[in-house]
Amino acid sequence: MFLAELDAPVTALKGIGRARGSELARIGIRTQGELLLHFPRTYEDRRTVIPLAAGTDGSAVNTTVRVTGHEWFGWGKKRVLKVHIEDESARASLVCYGRNFLENVLVPGKDFRLYGTFSLRFGELQSGSFETEPVNNSGQISGSFDRILPVYPLTGELTQKQLRSAVAQALKEGGIYIEDETGPGLMHGFGITSKAKALTAVHFPHTLEAAENARAYLAFEELFYLHLNLIRRSAALKARKTESSSRRPEVEKERIILEKVLNRLPFTLTADQSAVFREIQTDMASQQPMARLLQGDVGSGKTLIAFLSVCLAAARGTQTAFMAPTELLVRQHGENASRILGAAGIRIALLTGSMAKDQRNRLLDALKSGDIDLVIGTHALFSGDVAYKNLGLVIIDEQHRFGVGQRLALAEKSETGRPADFLLMTATPIPRTLAQTLFSDLDVSTIKTMPPGRKPVATHLARMGNEEKVYTYVAGELAKGRQAYFVYPLIEEGSEGLKDAETMYEQLALRYRDYRVGLIHSRLKEEAKLAVMKDFAEGQIAVLAATSVVEVGVDVPNATCMVIEHAERFGLAALHQLRGRVGRGIHESFCFLVYGGTLSEEGKARLKIMKDTHDGFRIAEEDLLIRGPGDVTGTQQSGFLRLRIADLVRDRELSQRARQSAVTVLQEDPGLLSDDNRVYRQVLARANPFDPDLLSGV
Ligand code: ADP
Ligand code: MG
Repeated sequence: MFLAELDAPVTALKGIGRARGSELARIGIRTQGELLLHFPRTYEDRRTVIPLAAGTDGSAVNTTVRVTGHEWFGWGKKRVLKVHIEDESARASLVCYGRNFLENVLVPGKDFRLYGTFSLRFGELQSGSFETEPVNNSGQISGSFDRILPVYPLTGELTQKQLRSAVAQALKEGGIYIEDETGPGLMHGFGITSKAKALTAVHFPHTLEAAENARAYLAFEELFYLHLNLIRRSAALKARKTESSSRRPEVEKERIILEKVLNRLPFTLTADQSAVFREIQTDMASQQPMARLLQGDVGSGKTLIAFLSVCLAAARGTQTAFMAPTELLVRQHGENASRILGAAGIRIALLTGSMAKDQRNRLLDALKSGDIDLVIGTHALFSGDVAYKNLGLVIIDEQHRFGVGQRLALAEKSETGRPADFLLMTATPIPRTLAQTLFSDLDVSTIKTMPPGRKPVATHLARMGNEEKVYTYVAGELAKGRQAYFVYPLIEEGSEGLKDAETMYEQLALRYRDYRVGLIHSRLKEEAKLAVMKDFAEGQIAVLAATSVVEVGVDVPNATCMVIEHAERFGLAALHQLRGRVGRGIHESFCFLVYGGTLSEEGKARLKIMKDTHDGFRIAEEDLLIRGPGDVTGTQQSGFLRLRIADLVRDRELSQRARQSAVTVLQEDPGLLSDDNRVYRQVLARANPFDPDLLSGV
């Protein structure tokens, strides 16, 4: 049986009742197989004796103690038991908050194994956090001493002890019978001979080295399947080739349209923009459909490149669907597009979810009959009733917000039989280290340099309580005629003691009385949002209290101040995006990161990166190293990658090896049809551990 087939419910395990079961369910653990995939966060080594006398500084103690007496403090229901103990090195006491039942366990005169953290209180060595066990129990499989214990990520009321016991049972009853999911010869060099053994060793290792080997074994297996999937998807994308060879670029028409557009620009393309555009031109002239990721930092001029690509599609008489993540951006792109492309005769329409029905119907008709060359929209572009006459190009702005499945779904919408070209644009940089893995099936273009004249945004950190200086500074900028954003983690007053946009809107309005202050957040009606943004863009609103709705793409060059309060609550990628809202014009700009009282070392390190770095790619890489790959790339959000044990940064080398293995296997047997590869075929077919969209739709 494969691990994924170990589907007995966790509630069948002793000690896991309904309540514990639903706590586990909340973190996605329903079956015993899923429980075995809940890997330890770290281990506790209880093989070395640490006497009581060593426990004064809050560190762990691991020793055998004798109970010397009981004492009670507090009154009535609040009575708490205190157990006096000693070992050869010292005396101490155990404070049994909520565990008065230990009165009948830790009986005076008896010896126990003890593991706990101690500190000195009023001259007495005390612990409130400890585990005990009768001495004769140590070394047993059920015992917790003289061995290495797993420490799991916990949830709710569950204790380590309960989880350990549940995992031990699941291993014993099903885990040790788990079949390997790898073929012959693949898993050399891990010092582990089967998946069942790897699972046992990762939960209850005999040595820390064995634990790491087991983890590597399981990580490699996971990465191997990841790459197997990705390579197959890549092959599927490439196989989208057209049978017909009717893909001659309309060179002359292209030249005319591009000339009209470029001549009207108040600037010339940067070298990087030109280079990237040539790559796109080559792609769009080739037989193979384009699948290109265009990376470039906030404000580097990607949108313009996208518009120029629209010209290429239009010259061939095909349509472009341009997707943006929010209605705000759809509107903004729409305005820019008509300014830049209108003169070249490109017919533009906007499609959003909030459109009136008859207006929408007219638009759909026009799309179908080919009266529209460029439609810019939100994910409303995916609705089932949207059909194109001749869809030639799909542009997705800020693609990290969309799932892989979605972008392929859009491609399927071409009615002409030939797949559309894809241009994905992102400013939330996907670290180089990950891009290769995630987008190995995409060609990548990068705009590295900014348009000339941009000054980096001066970034300052301020502790909350010192924000007065920041507000005063902003007042100075307002007096010069500039504008400011104030961004908050919450829309309205919440319970967490955080500042929110609505309350601060009122306070800012009082403080900056001479100016108009606006409020924008995602819960406003679309109409209201657009009205506020329009007034801000036109300079009528000087100060905008906002949430991260202004994160992406908003372009108001006269705004020079970005104040982010509770900056510690935002991901670095989001902070970078927000900062990118200023520094877009000729004036020097400022970003103030105001952080809440107590900040962890990690939190400080993260904000410091923002202060020191303006390169979005480096910010993403650093963030990844500090936090590990999580939502920084948006991959979790889009469900693209759900790795359980492997870590794409830490396991870079392992990942490369796994990829090489996957390549080799697929080279020899692309369809995985041979008997040796039967197991891969079965695993892929049964339980695709990754994105279920990965192979569908291509
Ligand atoms: P991105 O989409 O990469 O965030 P945009 O395309 O929105 O960047 O460009 C940001 C601003 O820079 C826009 O106002 C745009 O008109 C301007 N811009 C783009 N290319 C150039 C260039 N080559 N020289 C000067 N300004 C440019
Ligand atoms: Mg943009």
